[in-house]
Amino acid sequence: MMTTEENHSFTDISENYCGYEIYIDENPDRWTGGYSWSTCRNDEVVASGLEFTADQALQEAKGAAQTHHCPHCKACLNEDFSVRREYRNQDESSDTPETWGDGHYDHEGTYLPDEPANLGGEDWYCFDDSDFCRQCDRNLVTGKSIVEERKI
Ligand SMILES: [Zn+2]
Repeated sequence: MMTTEENHSFTDISENYCGYEIYIDENPDRWTGGYSWSTCRNDEVVASGLEFTADQALQEAKGAAQTHHCPHCKACLNEDFSVRREYRNQDESSDTPETWGDGHYDHEGTYLPDEPANLGGEDWYCFDDSDFCRQCDRNLVTGKSIVEERKI
Protein backbone atom coordinates (compact mmCIF):
# COMPACT_ATOMS: atom_id res chain seq x y z
CA MET A 1 0.00 0.00 0.00
CA MET A 2 1.56 3.31 -1.10
CA THR A 3 0.63 6.71 0.23
CA THR A 4 2.02 10.07 -0.78
CA GLU A 5 1.98 13.33 1.14
CA GLU A 6 -0.86 14.90 -0.84
CA ASN A 7 -3.15 11.98 0.09
CA HIS A 8 -3.22 13.06 3.72
CA SER A 9 -6.29 15.26 3.38
CA PHE A 10 -8.36 13.10 5.73
CA THR A 11 -7.65 12.38 9.35
CA ASP A 12 -7.92 8.64 9.81
CA ILE A 13 -10.31 7.53 12.53
CA SER A 14 -9.32 4.98 15.09
CA GLU A 15 -11.45 4.40 18.12
CA ASN A 16 -12.36 1.81 20.67
CA TYR A 17 -15.89 0.48 20.57
CA CYS A 18 -17.18 -2.23 22.90
CA GLY A 19 -13.76 -3.81 23.24
CA TYR A 20 -12.98 -3.62 19.53
CA GLU A 21 -10.60 -1.32 17.72
CA ILE A 22 -12.21 0.40 14.76
CA TYR A 23 -10.12 1.87 11.95
CA ILE A 24 -11.40 4.08 9.15
CA ASP A 25 -9.05 5.03 6.35
CA GLU A 26 -9.48 6.93 3.15
CA ASN A 27 -9.26 4.35 0.39
CA PRO A 28 -5.69 4.57 -0.98
CA ASP A 29 -7.17 3.64 -4.34
CA ARG A 30 -8.14 7.16 -5.42
CA TRP A 31 -9.89 5.86 -8.51
CA THR A 32 -12.38 3.75 -6.54
CA GLY A 33 -12.53 6.25 -3.67
CA GLY A 34 -14.53 5.81 -0.49
CA TYR A 35 -13.44 4.79 2.97
CA SER A 36 -12.24 1.44 4.14
CA TRP A 37 -13.13 0.24 7.61
CA SER A 38 -11.90 -2.59 9.75
CA THR A 39 -13.02 -3.92 13.11
CA CYS A 40 -10.23 -5.58 15.06
CA ARG A 41 -9.78 -7.42 18.31
CA ASN A 42 -6.35 -8.19 19.75
CA ASP A 43 -4.68 -7.06 16.51
CA GLU A 44 -6.76 -9.48 14.46
CA VAL A 45 -9.20 -8.16 11.84
CA VAL A 46 -12.65 -9.64 12.52
CA ALA A 47 -14.47 -7.74 9.75
CA SER A 48 -13.71 -5.13 7.11
CA GLY A 49 -15.30 -3.38 4.16
CA LEU A 50 -15.51 -0.30 1.96
CA GLU A 51 -18.15 2.47 2.04
CA PHE A 52 -18.73 5.73 0.17
CA THR A 53 -18.47 8.01 3.20
CA ALA A 54 -16.53 7.95 6.46
CA ASP A 55 -19.82 8.03 8.42
CA GLN A 56 -21.14 4.96 6.64
CA ALA A 57 -17.82 3.21 7.18
CA LEU A 58 -17.96 3.97 10.91
CA GLN A 59 -21.53 2.63 11.14
CA GLU A 60 -20.60 -0.57 9.34
CA ALA A 61 -17.58 -1.07 11.57
CA LYS A 62 -19.70 -0.58 14.71
CA GLY A 63 -22.36 -2.92 13.35
CA ALA A 64 -19.70 -5.56 12.77
CA ALA A 65 -18.48 -5.15 16.35
CA GLN A 66 -22.04 -5.62 17.62
CA THR A 67 -22.50 -8.94 15.84
CA HIS A 68 -19.35 -10.24 17.49
CA HIS A 69 -19.98 -9.46 21.11
CA CYS A 70 -22.59 -10.07 23.76
CA PRO A 71 -24.77 -6.91 23.97
CA HIS A 72 -25.06 -7.41 27.75
CA CYS A 73 -21.59 -8.21 29.11
CA LYS A 74 -19.50 -7.39 25.97
CA ALA A 75 -17.87 -10.84 25.96
CA CYS A 76 -16.29 -11.75 22.64
CA LEU A 77 -18.40 -14.36 20.84
CA ASN A 78 -15.64 -15.39 18.44
CA GLU A 79 -13.91 -17.42 21.12
CA ASP A 80 -14.51 -21.15 21.50
CA PHE A 81 -17.34 -22.14 23.85
CA SER A 82 -18.65 -18.57 24.12
CA VAL A 83 -22.19 -19.26 22.84
CA ARG A 84 -24.82 -21.75 24.03
CA ARG A 85 -27.40 -22.64 21.40
CA GLU A 86 -30.67 -24.14 22.59
CA TYR A 87 -32.77 -26.46 20.48
CA ARG A 88 -36.44 -27.04 21.15
CA ASN A 89 -38.11 -30.34 20.52
CA GLN A 90 -41.12 -30.05 18.23
CA ASP A 91 -42.39 -33.42 19.43
CA GLU A 92 -44.45 -32.36 22.46
CA SER A 93 -44.81 -35.90 23.76
CA SER A 94 -41.02 -36.16 24.17
CA ASP A 95 -39.69 -36.01 27.74
CA THR A 96 -36.72 -33.86 26.64
CA PRO A 97 -38.28 -30.51 25.61
CA GLU A 98 -34.92 -28.85 24.97
CA THR A 99 -31.26 -29.57 24.53
CA TRP A 100 -28.25 -27.40 23.81
CA GLY A 101 -24.76 -27.32 22.43
CA ASP A 102 -21.88 -24.91 22.87
CA GLY A 103 -20.00 -23.08 20.16
CA HIS A 104 -18.98 -19.67 18.91
CA TYR A 105 -19.53 -17.33 15.96
CA ASP A 106 -17.12 -17.07 13.08
CA HIS A 107 -16.14 -13.69 11.68
CA GLU A 108 -19.22 -13.65 9.44
CA GLY A 109 -21.50 -14.26 12.42
CA THR A 110 -22.19 -17.92 11.57
CA TYR A 111 -22.56 -20.26 14.53
CA LEU A 112 -19.90 -22.97 14.70
CA PRO A 113 -20.36 -25.78 17.23
CA ASP A 114 -17.50 -26.63 19.61
CA GLU A 115 -19.50 -29.14 21.65
CA PRO A 116 -22.39 -30.14 19.34
CA ALA A 117 -25.79 -30.82 20.85
CA ASN A 118 -26.86 -34.43 20.94
CA LEU A 119 -29.87 -34.16 18.66
CA GLY A 120 -30.42 -37.93 18.59
CA GLY A 121 -32.60 -38.05 15.49
CA GLU A 122 -35.53 -36.18 17.07
CA ASP A 123 -37.20 -33.15 15.57
CA TRP A 124 -35.22 -30.20 16.99
CA TYR A 125 -35.56 -26.57 16.03
CA CYS A 126 -33.62 -23.48 16.89
CA PHE A 127 -34.81 -19.90 16.47
CA ASP A 128 -33.38 -16.39 16.23
CA ASP A 129 -33.47 -16.19 20.01
CA SER A 130 -31.87 -19.58 20.62
CA ASP A 131 -28.39 -18.33 21.44
CA PHE A 132 -27.09 -17.42 24.89
CA CYS A 133 -23.86 -15.83 26.04
CA ARG A 134 -21.97 -18.28 28.22
CA GLN A 135 -20.20 -15.46 30.02
CA CYS A 136 -23.34 -13.89 31.52
CA ASP A 137 -25.91 -16.63 30.65
CA ARG A 138 -28.17 -14.09 28.96
CA ASN A 139 -30.11 -14.55 25.76
CA LEU A 140 -28.31 -12.59 23.04
CA VAL A 141 -31.62 -11.33 21.59
CA THR A 142 -34.03 -11.00 24.52
CA GLY A 143 -31.48 -10.36 27.29
CA LYS A 144 -33.25 -12.81 29.58
CA SER A 145 -31.19 -15.24 31.61
CA ILE A 146 -31.35 -18.95 30.87
CA VAL A 147 -33.28 -19.44 34.14
CA GLU A 148 -35.84 -16.74 33.26
CA GLU A 149 -36.36 -18.24 29.79
CA ARG A 150 -37.18 -21.65 31.22
CA LYS A 151 -39.97 -20.21 33.41
CA ILE A 152 -42.02 -19.17 30.39
ZN1 LIG B 1 -22.76 -11.88 27.93
